[in-house]
Amino acid sequence: MSDQKLNIESRITLLGAGPGDPDLLTLKGVKALQTADVVLYDALTNEALLEYAPAEAIKVYVGKRSGEHSYPQDTINKLMIDYALNYGHVVRLKGGDPFVFGRGYEELDYAASYSIPVSVIPGISSSIGVPGLQQIPVTHRGMSESFWVITGTTTSGEVSADIYQAAQSNATVVVLMGLKKLPKIVEIFKAAGKHNLPTAVVQNGSAEDERLVVGVVETIEHLVLQENIKAPALLIFGEVVSLHPSFKELIKQYASIA
Ligand code: SAH
Repeated sequence: MSDQKLNIESRITLLGAGPGDPDLLTLKGVKALQTADVVLYDALTNEALLEYAPAEAIKVYVGKRSGEHSYPQDTINKLMIDYALNYGHVVRLKGGDPFVFGRGYEELDYAASYSIPVSVIPGISSSIGVPGLQQIPVTHRGMSESFWVITGTTTSGEVSADIYQAAQSNATVVVLMGLKKLPKIVEIFKAAGKHNLPTAVVQNGSAEDERLVVGVVETIEHLVLQENIKAPALLIFGEVVSLHPSFKELIKQYASIA
């Protein structure tokens, strides 16, 4: 081992990049990037953030290549350890918040098994931040007392069983990774008698090409097809969606037809 290696202080920072707009990174996140020796970044993180890292830092993309699968988690875990042992401070930059469907804990756990210290810097999760940017509050007094954040695609590829319970509740329901499962999810809400529940789908929230459709459970599939909404997108089910200006517009239109 070279002398240089002996001086290496290995550590890992799990950093939440926020939902896409680079200005939604925390100040603590900027400071972590400024001291990075290596940055491992995912598909849903904005590459503009890499500019905060020193020019000489190694930047490695570990997200999905177009049309291919993401790097296996095992490979990412091993890379993270290798880089930490050989270069020092690894910033693991992840979309949104590292612990909201981000597999952050798996990485933390793996690093711990090598006794490499890990710190966590939370990020703005798309689950709250993206509705918020659209001025859709996930809770609102007198309207929604709680919210669920559920995956539309579990490890087995199915929608989460929790959606059945969520659809029965009065809570706001935010579904991540659910666009492909929209027909199934709509079916679940309909079975719960929620045909007219206000519903929104937001594509690429906080990015310049952000797009949104607003309707009700009954109409949302059609709107998504019509507007050709693509991933990454999240689904919002709940009365709070009625607070969105385009929902108010919809009500006016219906009222004028009726
Ligand atoms: N850790 C992330 C979520 C990772 S799961 C977070 O806290 O935001 C990835 C899913 O998140 C995507 O399939 C999509 O459903 C959602 N998502 C992430 N960024 C998004 C964005 N900018 N706009 C809409 N949905 C987004």
